[in-house]
Amino acid sequence: MAADSDAVSPREAEYHLNTGTLHLTLTFDLHAHSTASDGAYAPEELVHEAAQAGVDVLALTDHDTLAGLAAAQKAAIKNNIRFISGVEISVGWQRRTLHIVGLGIAADCEKLCAGLQGLQLLRRERAERIAGKLEQLGLENVLEKAESMANGAQITRTHFARLLVKSGLSKDMKQSFKRYLASGKPAHVSSEWTSLASAVDWIHTAGGVAVLAHPMAYNMTAAWRQRMYKAFREAGGDAMEVCCGNSNAEQVQLSTRDALEYELMGSVGSDFHHPEQRWIGLGKVPPLPAAITPVWTDARLAIV
Ligand code: AMP
Ligand code: MN
Ligand code: MN
Ligand code: MN
Repeated sequence: MAADSDAVSPREAEYHLNTGTLHLTLTFDLHAHSTASDGAYAPEELVHEAAQAGVDVLALTDHDTLAGLAAAQKAAIKNNIRFISGVEISVGWQRRTLHIVGLGIAADCEKLCAGLQGLQLLRRERAERIAGKLEQLGLENVLEKAESMANGAQITRTHFARLLVKSGLSKDMKQSFKRYLASGKPAHVSSEWTSLASAVDWIHTAGGVAVLAHPMAYNMTAAWRQRMYKAFREAGGDAMEVCCGNSNAEQVQLSTRDALEYELMGSVGSDFHHPEQRWIGLGKVPPLPAAITPVWTDARLAIV
């Protein structure tokens, strides 16, 4: 009798299993910046803030540099948070700039480091030219001021945008870009970043996963977006950000459809830069729709 009463039907077993399963929901944020590029927080501060905000798994993805990774990794252990080494690579494609995030990269990969060094040189040359253009508009000692804002890290347009606000030439960051720094504006300088194929190759050589960043943020028509996905896929790209810090429901829906069509895994990332951008918070990203294969299931990220 005892054996009989212990036996359960498959349906009951499933029930028991389900009730006994601990459903853990992890909060991921796989796109964020530190002072190593154009973020406001030092790498260790960023990790601390992310932990405070309830992020379980954070990737630091600074523009074209790995300089913040070691400090962030160390801080992650202290703050009991999982850390993924990342980078956001500037790419030139069809006379536009795209951003490709590399996740789970080895920071000592020679090919990746050499590639990023080339981009850092391009950034330096571009910064000098942007500074020259802003001086023609009446500002003084622009390069020195931008350097001091970057505090030893590489200079990005964000630093010039902050300088413009500080100098009273624009009322906020958005206006700095709209009036001076965006494509076609007086202080814009175009750069020949690396190719899509090279960026993906560097990331793969470094053992990482290549993710197309914020696909809805490039001001593209739907037709151009399709071309971009196709080119990214052909270059060997693995995933795309389906959920970003400023995505609305319609954008998530469109990106979900595209990720499925182009067989790309989905990533989630706030693209956090600065607490002043109150509408973007660490870990504050819509959930990845169930139809999408999460990028964190990829063995290269060693998360699950
Ligand atoms: P860069 O990679 O140096 O060309 O700088 C690009 C960075 O500028 C982006 O990663 C954003 O952080 C920032 N950015 C671009 N457009 C805007 C905007 N309209 N408002 C505020 N920040 C912007
Ligand atoms: Mn940025
Ligand atoms: Mn970006
Ligand atoms: Mn970014």
